[in-house]
Amino acid sequence: MPKYTYACDSCNNRSVRMADAKQKTDTCDVCGSNMTRQLPSLNGPAEVTETVDSFMNVKHRQDQKSLIKERNDEYYWKVEVPKLANDPTYALETKLENGWIWIDDNNQIHVHDKPPYKR
Ligand SMILES: [Zn+2]
Repeated sequence: MPKYTYACDSCNNRSVRMADAKQKTDTCDVCGSNMTRQLPSLNGPAEVTETVDSFMNVKHRQDQKSLIKERNDEYYWKVEVPKLANDPTYALETKLENGWIWIDDNNQIHVHDKPPYKR
């Protein structure tokens, strides 16, 4: 049976008890009032990890997730965007709207190779 922390509704008594998962209340052994089961508290920073390789049990942290996203972004802007920018099936307006290209003061068209937040 799992352990739960119960807190008394009347006094400040708290106790950790083995209880059935369905048992949400208990009786306070100090004052006899109703005790309410507490939600499990997270101690310290709860780092979210994701198992990348379950065989090797390799886990990576959440900031690596954004690193991967950044890498994907990089690929998109370095490889995909130049293709899209040169694709004649897209109108110039569409290319501008999507931020694939930009036009400088001399009316020269340039292709963006970085995501907007890196420019
Ligand atoms: Zn009590």
